[in-house]
Amino acid sequence: MAVKVKVNAEACIGCGLCVGSYPETFEFDADGKATVIGEMDEAVVDEAIGNCPAGAIEKE
Ligand code: SF4
Repeated sequence: MAVKVKVNAEACIGCGLCVGSYPETFEFDADGKATVIGEMDEAVVDEAIGNCPAGAIEKE
């Protein structure tokens, strides 16, 4: 099932982990922060949230 996520741009440090791992869901915005461009497979949402070093990814 697809799940909606969001990125807290204030918290994002622009490390690129989510963008590199899940390019169908995240891309960099003009400020070098991750932004959401698509939904995420439910199976990997918790992994993406857990791997973000800034705790910036949240379920919507
Ligand atoms: S993994 Fe977290 S800190 Fe790194 S770019 Fe993605 S949202 Fe930002």
